[in-house]
Amino acid sequence: MKCDSLCCPRCGYDLRGLPEPRCPECGEPFDPAELERHRHSQDKAGWLVRGVTTATRYSTLLLLLSMILIAFVALLVSCFL
Ligand SMILES: [Zn+2]
Repeated sequence: MKCDSLCCPRCGYDLRGLPEPRCPECGEPFDPAELERHRHSQDKAGWLVRGVTTATRYSTLLLLLSMILIAFVALLVSCFL
């Protein structure tokens, strides 16, 4: 089961706001700090994906700009020859 917040690693039950670090659904004990770390590592992965997407977008723009620049330079050179 996929969960994007604080959830039981065994059954996926929402573990937020519980009085004790134990899943009421399946009885699995958990470490809130460990789950929090896991959540943050997933956030980092999300940032990485967004970063790569942004970099890809900018590299496409950069490629387009360099092609325009090359075309412009080629036009200039052909005018002077
Ligand atoms: Zn559970």
